[in-house]
Amino acid sequence: LRASFSAIQKESGAIDGVIVVLYDITEQEKIEQERREFVANVSHELRTPLTTMRSYLEALADGAWKDEEIAPQFLSVTQTETERMIRLVNDLLQLSKLDRTDYRLNKDLVNFSDFFNKIIDRFEMTKAQHVDFVRKIPNEALFVDIDTDKITQVLDNIISNALKYSPEGGQITFSIDVLPTELQIYIRDQGVGIPKGSENKIFDRFYRVDKARSRKLGGTGLGLAIAKEMVYAHGGDIWAKSKEGHGTTVYFTLPYNPEQEDEWE
Ligand code: ADP
Repeated sequence: LRASFSAIQKESGAIDGVIVVLYDITEQEKIEQERREFVANVSHELRTPLTTMRSYLEALADGAWKDEEIAPQFLSVTQTETERMIRLVNDLLQLSKLDRTDYRLNKDLVNFSDFFNKIIDRFEMTKAQHVDFVRKIPNEALFVDIDTDKITQVLDNIISNALKYSPEGGQITFSIDVLPTELQIYIRDQGVGIPKGSENKIFDRFYRVDKARSRKLGGTGLGLAIAKEMVYAHGGDIWAKSKEGHGTTVYFTLPYNPEQEDEWE
């Protein structure tokens, strides 16, 4: 709370009264502080790959380019860092689009059971490590009105994390629960987990439990923040439960109207 005082004076100079104005600046200041933090984070995230690239390019310019063994390695580092910056800028552009108030979704009525299965199939085909997939997906058609590109990205971001943080031989469970007015979806892994009390922070922009690890795995720290905005735009919610060392479950909901199916029968 901030206050400003002004005195009301008579012509004689005597003070007749005082006007006190109280401003509630807490919310405004919070937004301003978040904005400053965001800009600082973006700058830092861009500076890290840029300084890495600068030193490798300097070394190449200083003669490393002549070394047939070292040169390709150094070039590959600069390539990796460039790709990281492209991913980061793409994620930032996406967030900035989602932040616009006139943001529009391109919705279609889709059978979510089929849709979810197809996305899991794609991960099952391409996954590099050995992880078992368990599906708890109803056989019935569950129609939801969603922007399929956006929800594909939500699922991609959650599932790729589940794979990234899973141990070799771990299990990933995919589930849909039908609630009266929504579908509750979860993706559960048996990975490293998230420290107690930080389960909500993972949806914040740039929050990572382990910065170095996330970087090594190619993360931008924005995947779940984007997923959150996209789920919110659909009128759903997203949250996580985790036990450190045992695994993580990420849940999200989508509005669901059971009547909707009847139109298709
Ligand atoms: P990143 O690009 O770092 O993966 P995300 O926004 O996708 O960014 O996730 C933010 C952070 O949340 C990650 O850096 C990681 O610390 C944590 N996290 C997300 N998903 C999981 C998971 N399934 N298991 C453990 N930690 C996770």
